[in-house]
Amino acid sequence: MDEREELEALRRELEQANYEYYVLDNPTMTDYDFDHKLRRLEELEAKHPDLASPDSPTQRVGGKVAEGFAEVVHRVPLESLQDVFSLKELTEFDQRVREALGEEIEYDVEPKVDGLSVALEYENGLFVRGATRGDGQVGEDVTENLRTIRSIPLRLSEALPSLIVRGEVYMPKKVFEDLNAQLELQGKSLFANPRNAAAGSLRQHDSKVAAARKLDIQVFNIQWAEGRTFRTHTETLDYLASQRFKVIPHKTCTTIAQAGEAIARMGDGREEYPFDIDGAVVKLNDLAGRERLGSTAKFPRWAAAYKYPPERKPSKVLDIVVQVGRTGVLTPKAVVEPVRLAGTTVTSATLHNQDFITEKDIRIGDTVLVQKAGEIIPEIVAVERDKRPEGTVPYHLPDRCPVCGAPVARDEDGAHIRCTGAECPAQRLRHLVHFASRDAMDIEGLGPAVVENLLEAGLVQSPGDLYALKAEDVAELERMGKKSAENLIAALEKSKGNDLSRLLFAFGIRQVGQKAGKILAAHFGDLDSLMAASEEALTAIPDIGAITAHSIAAWFQSPQSRHLIESLRAAGVNFKSLEAPAGEALAGKTFVLTGTLEHLGRKEAAALIEAQGGKVSGSVSKKTSYVVAGEAAGSKLQKARELGIPVLTEGELLSMLER
Ligand SMILES: [Zn+2]
Repeated sequence: MDEREELEALRRELEQANYEYYVLDNPTMTDYDFDHKLRRLEELEAKHPDLASPDSPTQRVGGKVAEGFAEVVHRVPLESLQDVFSLKELTEFDQRVREALGEEIEYDVEPKVDGLSVALEYENGLFVRGATRGDGQVGEDVTENLRTIRSIPLRLSEALPSLIVRGEVYMPKKVFEDLNAQLELQGKSLFANPRNAAAGSLRQHDSKVAAARKLDIQVFNIQWAEGRTFRTHTETLDYLASQRFKVIPHKTCTTIAQAGEAIARMGDGREEYPFDIDGAVVKLNDLAGRERLGSTAKFPRWAAAYKYPPERKPSKVLDIVVQVGRTGVLTPKAVVEPVRLAGTTVTSATLHNQDFITEKDIRIGDTVLVQKAGEIIPEIVAVERDKRPEGTVPYHLPDRCPVCGAPVARDEDGAHIRCTGAECPAQRLRHLVHFASRDAMDIEGLGPAVVENLLEAGLVQSPGDLYALKAEDVAELERMGKKSAENLIAALEKSKGNDLSRLLFAFGIRQVGQKAGKILAAHFGDLDSLMAASEEALTAIPDIGAITAHSIAAWFQSPQSRHLIESLRAAGVNFKSLEAPAGEALAGKTFVLTGTLEHLGRKEAAALIEAQGGKVSGSVSKKTSYVVAGEAAGSKLQKARELGIPVLTEGELLSMLER
């Protein structure tokens, strides 16, 4: 087989594997084989650029970066549906349809995926463009990001001249949970729900990021087809399935009562779907009937979206407990009397934060209404005040971390209250991962997985313990081995010599990022001077605000921080700034450099002046202290003479710097 044939065969094989895995949910190829073959295909495509093709599986991994998203005018508008909220309203919808079309009506019922609507365009069987719904008339071109969704076929077996398919892009619930767990670990803000996460991912400018987000799609409509006609909606869905789309699960019903039952069943089984649903859609199956009914200004008359009411039931707050998350956020949770909601037994409800509790005045002993909407964690929607027993008191979050006892502090920009403990066990993993990260202590080989292993093995608790690690203990860990253990110890050893600014950032003090770390290191020169500084002294430093100063002072006062610092000191970690300290000799003096200097470059001379606290300016004025004139000095020298400003030779500057 020559390379061209091999390339074609690999494409077919990989697309088949994609289809089996992502559409049929029936994997037939191991990840290892898939990656291996994909790499081979990439090699071949690099060798034969003339065989490049937009439908190659290699085009799904992303990498294209969009500046912005072009507008797409939808050939057929992506209409929204009329909501119905009860069986009564559903029956009225049915009556309107039958009055217009007669008694024999068939409906198709589908779960309503809570995601983002998109239109997929195919020309001659090739996926050419995908757009968001936008306002229904005009959307955004997100073709490159959609291409990364493995369940979207890039080429269809039947090459109709033109086909437009509508579907709903979503983030699978499992992927969503993993993503948020990862974001939490990185200390980033979380997505509120899978729909927000999907929206954020689909509008990524870097399609590699979109690819990593593992979005999926359910298609549910043909918007436009040239070269084929269909009689019913179910026929179109069957056709889409034959073209290897991932088609929405659906049920055909001959009466509205049957449709109502199907809706109820989908509602009861909503937890089983890999996607969130916010209702069920009832559609007229007969396409000619749809034409006859048409649309109002807002909605098609042939469909309705049944919205499931969020289930809510009364329960009683037995207790309020506080959890400390991996980023140190204190999250209050109500322990409630067990109650059945949306198919699960609910025993607790989130209270979000202190503001939420205060606003609703939720107290231990209260009778409350608990609600569960979709997959969202149950929450308390109301307190039944008239049922409040005697002697209850307003609830306040503790002012110390329930895990480690360190003081808590409220984020200045939000409702969160956080533990400030430098060695808080709840935050161990995050503290260690941050400490070792590239911009902090830059300990190569100490990523989240290794940290997790070290924690599990009980080898470390806090960053101070890292430097006591022994290669033979590390080598015992899973997936480690002698060589990588030795490398890790060497990396740890190397990190001891880091500049103080890195260590300050590595401490993870709130408000102290890389920049503040550098400012503090340069200002104090060593850790002990910084520790001895008062809050006032910190506030006086340019670029350090009052909130940051307070956060720093509080952090250094905490016994946990002191313990951490002493263990790092004992390990021999460098506490000094390695940057040359700024001198004061030239403070308040402004220099202008002109002409060619014999020994120093302009930049070098400027750096030396600035290191001694002097300033370098580009033009001569009355405020200039000195002009340094080299070979072929011109108008600046002239001006200095006019204004009577002292002129220095290079030699005079150097001796001034040496002083
Ligand atoms: Zn704590």
